[in-house]
Amino acid sequence: MAEETVFSKILKGDIPCEEVYRDNECLAFRDVQPQAPVHILVIPQKSIPSLREAETKDKKLLGHLLLVASTIANKEGLDSWRTVINTGASAGQTVFHLHVHIIGGRSLSWPPG
Ligand code: 5GP
Repeated sequence: MAEETVFSKILKGDIPCEEVYRDNECLAFRDVQPQAPVHILVIPQKSIPSLREAETKDKKLLGHLLLVASTIANKEGLDSWRTVINTGASAGQTVFHLHVHIIGGRSLSWPPG
């Protein structure tokens, strides 16, 4: 069975979140520690620890997450934004339930730290 994470608890409703979108495949909510005026996380309902564990059968789901991210960013009124998927601890991943960050509302530098 998949390990419990803070995001699986959010999905079950055990931890509250500021929800912005939900469907049968994913949930989107505001990051509790926003790094920009808009910082939203899109997570699959299905428990996948990181992009590393995603499989060919998840192809449609992965596309869905990105399209949902784009729809949300547009609804938030962003004319530019960054989508980030941290994979692995040294890349900054702290929650091991796949998630797409939507970060926007300020200028973003490149390369990221
Ligand atoms: P990661 O560092 O794994 O790419 O991103 C995890 C994100 O989840 C972080 O930006 C962190 O602030 C956010 N986060 C961690 N715990 C919670 C929580 O309980 N609620 C919400 N809304 N976000 C959380």
